[in-house]
Amino acid sequence: MSAPADSPTFPTNGRVDLSGRTFVVTGGNGGIGLGMATGLAQAGAAVLIAGRNAAKNAAAVKTLKALGAKAAAVEADVTVQAECRALIEAASDKFGRLDILVNNAGTTIRKQPQHYTLEEWKLVLDTNLTSAFLCSQAAYPAMLEAGGGKIINIGSMLSIFGASFTGPYGASKGGMVQLTKSLACAWAKDNIQVNAVLPGWIDTELTRQGRKEIAGLHERVLARTPAGRWGDPADFAGIAVFLAGSASDFLNGTAIPVDGGYSSQG
Ligand code: NDP
Repeated sequence: MSAPADSPTFPTNGRVDLSGRTFVVTGGNGGIGLGMATGLAQAGAAVLIAGRNAAKNAAAVKTLKALGAKAAAVEADVTVQAECRALIEAASDKFGRLDILVNNAGTTIRKQPQHYTLEEWKLVLDTNLTSAFLCSQAAYPAMLEAGGGKIINIGSMLSIFGASFTGPYGASKGGMVQLTKSLACAWAKDNIQVNAVLPGWIDTELTRQGRKEIAGLHERVLARTPAGRWGDPADFAGIAVFLAGSASDFLNGTAIPVDGGYSSQG
């Protein structure tokens, strides 16, 4: 199947042009999600972000609009199926179509495995993994209607490695890579590409809390990361634009580390 005639293209100045495209990013009101949203907005896409915190949503929309983007937010809890569906519908209602879905919302609870309750296990799996399945399923008809689409799933170094304090988180992020492959195989025929991004250790609210809870984490990350620094949300703008545009049309089912070399270090 060939790419749709109105696919985003590389204009002669080498910049990706995503104008006319609409994307949804779950958890787009801060951290890595906002880093990706910023890249997509700068490439001209219309942006719908989703999170539970209304104040954070409003601040992120202001930031994106200041870049000249069409931006809006939906208050949504992605652990609730009806809210996932409403979020996807809102993209079509507000912007007329849906081209790109970034499944980024995530959380963790750090404990030794023997101490988790079933509710804690379910909260992490529902937030990180089941939400990606539900939002993708809800987005599929709109992407079909648009002639194709892109889904970007956010995994983790814990999609690859283990750690003693990440039982449900690691299970959710390993599952995210396998979900990515299944969706890619199923929907390639519909011109929908599904890829995962595996962030290294990035300085966000999530990991600031982790550095408080896990002694020595900060130093261990610095020592193992060849880039010699923690990642920044802005490091995700480029990969988002690449995976959202036609330059990645033959990339499907992959899991790409964006980690300053962390996963290459022996
Ligand atoms: P943040 O804590 O900064 O962002 C998490 C985002 O998810 C927030 O926007 C939050 O918004 C949203 N969110 C959480 N729960 C829900 C929910 N139930 N419904 C809707 N939105 C929700 O963390 P990061 O930016 O670090 O994390 C983003 C993704 O990147 C996550 O999937 C995380 O696992 C992954 N990741 C992060 C790494 C890092 O080093 N930082 C490394 C590897 C992966 P709100 O609170 O308003 O709902």
